[in-house]
Amino acid sequence: MKIICVGRNYVEHARELQNAIPSVPLIFMKPATALLKDGKPFYHPDFSNNIHFELELVLKISKNGKTIREQFASDYYEEIGLGIDFTARDLQDELKSKGHPWELAKAFDNAACIGGFIPKSQINLKSIQFSLSKNGKIVQSGDSADMIFSFDNLIHYVSQYITLQKGDLIFTGTPAGVGKVEVGDHFVGCIGDVALLDCKIR
Ligand code: ZN
Repeated sequence: MKIICVGRNYVEHARELQNAIPSVPLIFMKPATALLKDGKPFYHPDFSNNIHFELELVLKISKNGKTIREQFASDYYEEIGLGIDFTARDLQDELKSKGHPWELAKAFDNAACIGGFIPKSQINLKSIQFSLSKNGKIVQSGDSADMIFSFDNLIHYVSQYITLQKGDLIFTGTPAGVGKVEVGDHFVGCIGDVALLDCKIR
């Protein structure tokens, strides 16, 4: 399986990092070794002093597809969940300033934390409200209605280049409010009132 991620998919988040608003989706990937699941803790790596949390809606791809048309894109996912796209912001800034790929800042082990998934039939896809709390206080809240590129846009766009396979995950971008993680932090992610993701930083 592979993990496909979308950068700058919410206007307010692009602004908070002083990035331009993209006219096409900004895509990057994480390897399967980046997956952190089953409520396991995230061990803070020592190559970074500024690991950020980014809460994102995550699509689980349910069948294989290539060059998927937008009007059929919703047939390719049945479940939606939450993930944290852990990012070594200091390393990313350094790589960006040199014009180099971001890979090491995004694709390191355990950098793709996921929680549980819920069937898409149980949610209003046009407006999915989701939030992340850190030590009991809400730090990020988002609404899929504010995405620059919708789930269906993203599936169409990515599948022109990369075949989607059953079991792949798409991290669909983070809303504003990203910030630094500290050892001892406890993160809980919710869709509506349902807690789907729980991650402690060790
Ligand atoms: Zn992200």
